[in-house]
Amino acid sequence: MHSSQFKSRSLTQRLAIALAAGGLLLLLCLCLILWLGWQGLHSQTQERLQQAVQKLDLVFDHAQQVAIEVEPLIGNACGSQESLLRKIVASTPDVRSVTIEADGALLCSSVYGHREKLVNIQPYAEGQLLLQSNNLLTPDQSVLIYRRHVGNYSVLVGINGHDLSYVLGLLGEIRLQVGGLTLDAQERVRKAGSRVEGQRLSIASTRYAYRVNDVINATIFRTYMLEHALLEGILALALSIFFGVVCFRRTKSGLHHELCRALDAGEFVAYLQPMMNREGTQVTGGEVLMRWMHPELGLIRPDRFIPLAEDSGLIVPMTRELMRQVREGMGPRAAALPPHFHFSFNIAASHCCDLSLVEDCRDFLAAFSANPVNLVLELTERELVVPNETTMKLFDELERMGVSIAIDDFGTGHSSLVYLQQFKVDFLKIDQSFVARIGSDALSRHIVDNVVDLASRLDLSLVAEGVETQEQADYLMARGVDFLQGYLYGNPVPLADFWLEAKLP
Ligand code: C2E
Ligand code: CA
Ligand code: CA
Repeated sequence: MHSSQFKSRSLTQRLAIALAAGGLLLLLCLCLILWLGWQGLHSQTQERLQQAVQKLDLVFDHAQQVAIEVEPLIGNACGSQESLLRKIVASTPDVRSVTIEADGALLCSSVYGHREKLVNIQPYAEGQLLLQSNNLLTPDQSVLIYRRHVGNYSVLVGINGHDLSYVLGLLGEIRLQVGGLTLDAQERVRKAGSRVEGQRLSIASTRYAYRVNDVINATIFRTYMLEHALLEGILALALSIFFGVVCFRRTKSGLHHELCRALDAGEFVAYLQPMMNREGTQVTGGEVLMRWMHPELGLIRPDRFIPLAEDSGLIVPMTRELMRQVREGMGPRAAALPPHFHFSFNIAASHCCDLSLVEDCRDFLAAFSANPVNLVLELTERELVVPNETTMKLFDELERMGVSIAIDDFGTGHSSLVYLQQFKVDFLKIDQSFVARIGSDALSRHIVDNVVDLASRLDLSLVAEGVETQEQADYLMARGVDFLQGYLYGNPVPLADFWLEAKLP
């Protein structure tokens, strides 16, 4: 495992990975659902068009049947046949009239009998079908005329547009097209090819001179999807969320697993850095800092893994392990420590969510009963503890036990005076970034002066961390800072070395 992995997977990054993975899956699923939906709607429409052709062919079959029945009567006088024509019409479904015509003259009609009046001959589609928005018999209604040629004669069979529209209406918004005109389910006759948005599907009858048309557009597609693919959409969403959660967990579990392993293997080790008195002459305490002794990567600095440990909740057992190491390493030699020796531990805000910290501190203090020490919990100002019933109870308990609270990295966050009082803070640790710039910039000096001033007004002890030069030490000492900590006095070292470096007995 490469060390960059420890810093590369923060909570936000894991969230981003999970969102990207879930989002991608959702996108793929949606594309698939849309494609399948489109195919489904397409074949459903084709099917409806086929059905329409079947039903309309049946209507035209009736017209054809009438024409065939009338055929032997051609050439006879109309008077004797008129009633026969009417009988044929009446006994055949779907047709409304039949006429024998020659050269535009109505030789005999089931409606008008014999009429010499020339009919207005219009072009029949393929010489067979003619769609009219009205005619003499029904000026307000459309009619479709089927024509059958018999030598110089024609048999014209009339079909009500209304009946055809009814058939179309049963199958949705299909249009019947005859020649250059169309008939729709609302009995409207219009010019074919008038602009329609969407994809046009069309099937021609193989037996009669007409075709049926339909259109798929965005509105129809949307309605279809809502009716047919809503469940699939919900399933895809659920699946993507599930996948996202799995990804989120898996990215966690890899690191979680590695941190767990390291914790079990005892790879997290306590280092101690000395804290000096206000003159910088005597070690009065030490800050416990965590180190990861990785078997392959060597020593890993805490800022690489602490944020991950906090995210995964492992920071609590890790801190507890550090407390155990210090307790067992230093406790037996407690009597050799200077009186009221300070042990500072860095505590994550998540450790303050319950009262287990009280037990941890109690155990720690008990180990030093021979020569009581001052236990300090450092809470960073960048991640403030939320005041609520539990945290208030926790801090009350800690105060009762004599545990002190320090605000770490002071000056970099937003703790208010109310916050300092609420949690009965004892120490402020001036952030090392201000200390580092003491010699160089006036603003940092100004901030240090202000923190010193604030601490004295609130009666808080002050610790300066990151003291590296004598100049910084002199400046801080001149302002009466209570404790000094930094490379000038000592690096963080393993517990065993601390006795030697701090020149403790
Ligand atoms: P911090 O609590 O502000 O700790 C002080 C850091 O400054 C330590 O870095 C220390 O080694 C470093 N330091 C000490 N003296 C000097 C100096 O003179 N100059 C400079 N430039 N640096 C100095 P370290 O040990 O790498 O720790 C980094 C951070 O990791 C700590 O900052 C703390 O926030 C976190 N951390 C370390 N151990 C623990 C732990 O056990 N629990 C928790 N929650 N956080 C920890
Ligand atoms: Ca600290
Ligand atoms: Ca600090």
